[in-house]
Amino acid sequence: MSWASSEGSRRSMLANRSRDTKPELAVRRALHAAGFRYRVDASPTRNLRSRADIVFTKQKIAVFIDGCFWHGCPIHATIPKRNADYWVPKLRRNVERDLETTRKLESLGWVVLRFWEHERVDDIVKLISNSWFGRAARAPDPAPSNPTATRTTRRAIADNCGLPCIDGQNLKNP
Ligand SMILES: [Zn+2]
Repeated sequence: MSWASSEGSRRSMLANRSRDTKPELAVRRALHAAGFRYRVDASPTRNLRSRADIVFTKQKIAVFIDGCFWHGCPIHATIPKRNADYWVPKLRRNVERDLETTRKLESLGWVVLRFWEHERVDDIVKLISNSWFGRAARAPDPAPSNPTATRTTRRAIADNCGLPCIDGQNLKNP
């Protein structure tokens, strides 16, 4: 009997796999409410087969919210006792693939943010946001519509700038 032949375990495996996991949805919702726009479940670059859960194309930020079971969380990962010879190599491959994907993206100039599904949504959103603003400062882009403080700061910089500067030009021609 294969691991998948019991309907109950099969269903829970499929549920674990689905792209719209609860923590991921919560993070997306919070980011969206803060004015961020992003692609969902997308390949960051054309010649990469893996998809990231949340992708900021312009800022080159790829976010992964990894399931504790599937990606080998050091706190929660377990190896099923039944069919261990199926699961051990499979789960190991997942972890290897994650590493490979991270390395590949980083070599292409991407920032890769990996979180465990057990991490607090607030913490995840904060780190993503910090990273976004870090990237935006390097390569100016219109700020998200909601964080007004940041907009004001950027405008103040532009107003005080008597010399041609990238920030000022960007704000005049958004
Ligand atoms: Zn975990």
